Amino acid sequence: MARIVVVGSINMDLVTLTPRFAAPGETLLGDRFVTVPGGKGANQAVAAARLGAQVALVGALGQDAFGDQLLDGLQREHVDTSHVVRVDDVGSGTASITVAEGENHIIVVPGANARVTPAQVEKAQGLMARADAVLVQMEIPMESVEATLRLGHHLGVPVILNPAPAQKLPASLLKQARYLTPNQHELAILLGAKHDTDFRELMIKAPAPVVLTRGAEGAWYRDGGEPAHQEGFAVEAVDTTGAGDTFNAALAVFLNEGLPQAVRKACAAAALSVTRLGAQGGMPTRAELDAFLG
Ligand code: ADP
Repeated sequence: MARIVVVGSINMDLVTLTPRFAAPGETLLGDRFVTVPGGKGANQAVAAARLGAQVALVGALGQDAFGDQLLDGLQREHVDTSHVVRVDDVGSGTASITVAEGENHIIVVPGANARVTPAQVEKAQGLMARADAVLVQMEIPMESVEATLRLGHHLGVPVILNPAPAQKLPASLLKQARYLTPNQHELAILLGAKHDTDFRELMIKAPAPVVLTRGAEGAWYRDGGEPAHQEGFAVEAVDTTGAGDTFNAALAVFLNEGLPQAVRKACAAAALSVTRLGAQGGMPTRAELDAFLG
């Protein structure tokens, strides 16, 4: 059983479905409202746990009802939450999402996620030392992302940096990641390159090995040498929310099988996730993945 540590965000997604977007100052009647657990850190932790890994999450929640609900949900998914702290002067992270006319507007309030500190990451050192892989994204303070990369590098544990949401980062920092897992758009921002630069060229230039996701076209990967392509699995796409998170989780869980196999399984798991609604709702179990791969 792979042991995975995720350092990242936990959010409650507040989703309103409405016939159209409201104009400034306007009040509209919507169709439906749902709350669903999200945040890239929590999503990747849940996806890895469903795939059979032993998972611990390092993160922060508020002392509010969303915090209670989110913590419960993680524990029900068998995620170890002993390194999830509760902060009392700020609420749990939220993403207010309005869906209308096939598009969405999203407002993220980081809340407690902004309180994940380097000291908290360092407290998880024992856990990280025993991990097969560490996953980190960029919805927590940059200094805590840096602390995770530094600690993983120091311990000799592979850290997968999912650079989302993307910002330009120095090569000295990126070098400490075992793999970077951007999409094409994120890779260009990360390296401060022009958006129309060929992604294979950027993969070769990147200061760390890159596994690049390409939606329905699958993924490209490079660990020295020429970039290689893993075809996407043909499925009926229903909802691509959480595909990237499922991909990252599976990559971490199957990394010990070698990169080509891990990327293949990551594409398969992510393809399965797009056949179902919701981020965490769509994430496959290990049994479902095995059945899909035959
Ligand atoms: P992001 O949302 O982070 O940009 P992608 O859209 O590239 O991520 O999706 C991540 C992975 O999910 C892809 O590499 C691919 O393996 C899988 N995937 C996404 N969309 C589809 C699709 N329509 N059909 C099959 N696989 C998909």
